[in-house]
Amino acid sequence: MLLQKELNLFTFADLIQYYPFRHEDRTKFYLIKEVNEQMPFVQIKGKITTMDLRSGGFKKRLVASFTDGTGVLELVWFQGISWAVEKIKPGIDYVIFGKPNRYGKTISIAHPEIELLSAKSEKGNFLLPVYSLTEKLKARHIDSKLISKLQQELLRAAQQHIRETLPDTLIRKHKLLSKKAALLNIHFPQSLELLNQAQQRLKFEELFFIQLQLLKLKLVRQEKFKGQIFKDTAILTSFYKEHLPFLLTEAQKCVIREIYTDMKSGKQMNRLLQGDVGSGKTIVAFICMLLVIGSDAQAALMAPTEILAQQHFNNLKKYANPVGVTIALLTGSTKKRVRKKLHEQLQSGELKILVGTHALLEDQVQFHNLGLSVIDEQHRFGVAQRSKLWQKNSGLRPHVLVMTATPIPRTLAMTLYGDLEISVIDELPIGRKPIKTMHRYDSHRLQVNGFLRLQIEEGRQVYIVYPLIDESEKLDLKHLMDGYESVTRAFPDFPISILHGKMKPEAKDFEMARFVKGETKIMVATTVIEVGVDVPNASVMVIESAERFGLSQLHQLRGRVGRGADQSYCILITDYKLSADSKIRIETLVRTNNGFEIAETDLKLRGPGDLMGTQQSGLLDLAIADLSKDQSILLVAREEAIQILQKDPELSLPENITIRKQIESIKKTAVNWSRIS
Ligand code: ADP
Ligand code: MG
Repeated sequence: MLLQKELNLFTFADLIQYYPFRHEDRTKFYLIKEVNEQMPFVQIKGKITTMDLRSGGFKKRLVASFTDGTGVLELVWFQGISWAVEKIKPGIDYVIFGKPNRYGKTISIAHPEIELLSAKSEKGNFLLPVYSLTEKLKARHIDSKLISKLQQELLRAAQQHIRETLPDTLIRKHKLLSKKAALLNIHFPQSLELLNQAQQRLKFEELFFIQLQLLKLKLVRQEKFKGQIFKDTAILTSFYKEHLPFLLTEAQKCVIREIYTDMKSGKQMNRLLQGDVGSGKTIVAFICMLLVIGSDAQAALMAPTEILAQQHFNNLKKYANPVGVTIALLTGSTKKRVRKKLHEQLQSGELKILVGTHALLEDQVQFHNLGLSVIDEQHRFGVAQRSKLWQKNSGLRPHVLVMTATPIPRTLAMTLYGDLEISVIDELPIGRKPIKTMHRYDSHRLQVNGFLRLQIEEGRQVYIVYPLIDESEKLDLKHLMDGYESVTRAFPDFPISILHGKMKPEAKDFEMARFVKGETKIMVATTVIEVGVDVPNASVMVIESAERFGLSQLHQLRGRVGRGADQSYCILITDYKLSADSKIRIETLVRTNNGFEIAETDLKLRGPGDLMGTQQSGLLDLAIADLSKDQSILLVAREEAIQILQKDPELSLPENITIRKQIESIKKTAVNWSRIS
């Protein structure tokens, strides 16, 4: 049926949980003098004084003056004019309902709903549910009114069977509506106050059960999977004493302590390490690797791309060599001969650290004893790949540290990674100069080029990034090539590199290497340079058509500079015309370097699903709660879930029977859904 295909509604329970996304307020009558164009929908009592058929250009329209004694507004019909002329008469009391707009000094409402005041019974004053619909449904004349009728009938029939899904204690403690009252009022609220309470109750319930399940998963894993205990710190001490290249920041130390505690605990660690670009996650990972290596185990680091793996390998090698720790790189392009030797050394335990791409996941890659898996840039890997690396050990599972440079707002992290422990590096190493970010229009390109020239003449290097969101977009590729041409024309005296996703890996590596060595001064690229690449001498990031990038992505790109001692700059070039959202994005970036603040703004602008990409959005498909707005409810719900699980990890106490039942029924429908879709 259409409802199944279009809205994913299979059962009556699904339908009942298909909540309206807003309500039209039919409880209140506005006075015309109060009405302005900012109001969404208004209901007004009044009379029509004049009706006037006008034809401007090709279009005929019917315009009626409508007054309630406090003012006048215009009602306008472009369609159904003959119907309106027939039905609507001046001098009679009507109730109208519609969206006010302003044209010059006049407020007008196009195609209002209009009804005789006498026909509108007292009971007719209510909050009318509005359901979101797809175009296909609309084309088949399935509208909000019809859904609302279905809901009404369904609720009438099902009322007695609605069972409570939250324990009494929670309902009383948080003064929540009963499930039945909540369902009735979410669709057909008796008052605004009750609507509000219904929303609160259902949001709480939704978030509570998600958190409960995530936390339970974590608990089960902790019980089931013992971890190796690592506590010999001899090699670490020597590294700290003799080879630490800089003083660690307090945040780095704190995170290392958290990880140590996990690795000594006897339980398997699953921890997410969040830290803004440049916050120094690599050294943290290395220090944790040392703890493992000191106890005769091995460590692996997996990165999403070849370039990144190479870069990690280079960085870690610098730390590993002085303390005599063996380290190797394994990617898709590692030669067979080298690979074979690697496999042997890995199995014998001679090789301590293996860095690589998803090539690490191949079955032939067997460790002697893998103690720690570090995964960089988590969101590029699927959850399945992640778990494959967890299972890489024949004995106890390795500890897992997932690193991400994409700051994730707290509410999102609690849901997406609710089953992981979370550590945050929230400060940058001292002495780092904050990147200066500027916004320039296309028309200022000459000035921008002048600035770039000065920087390059002082010995710096420059990135110029073009949007190529989808590598298959021909037009984007053309823009990049045009851009490259104009850059070569503007800087005929400087060697220039180009990098995009369509290039062969060898060509990419070649260009990247030239830029890293400083042989080329300008790198014209797409977002392939987004993650990880570290060229401290590059101090200017120019982003072309910046309005086309997402906020987090802009921040990520900006993080490619500001890695050395010099003052760094980020120049956002945009068109003159900007949408309201683009404006906010650009302004936010110019204002702050704080990744978490940026992520919060991004969450508000885009909503959680888009922010995280489709890969993980399953968890974010919420029926009513909104992770960008319902942070406080989430915190309370999570806290309650924690307390309940602390007291009753198996949820086997009689007082938790309601919860247990509800989880079973959620699981049942979840299975159903995945089978169908
Ligand atoms: P990210 O968190 O983005 O992966 P990196 O680990 O690449 O950051 O570190 C960024 C740069 O900062 C590197 O050049 C690294 O050597 C340096 N760095 C890391 N920690 C410190 C520190 N505590 N003091 C000074 N420099 C540091
Ligand atoms: Mg990094």
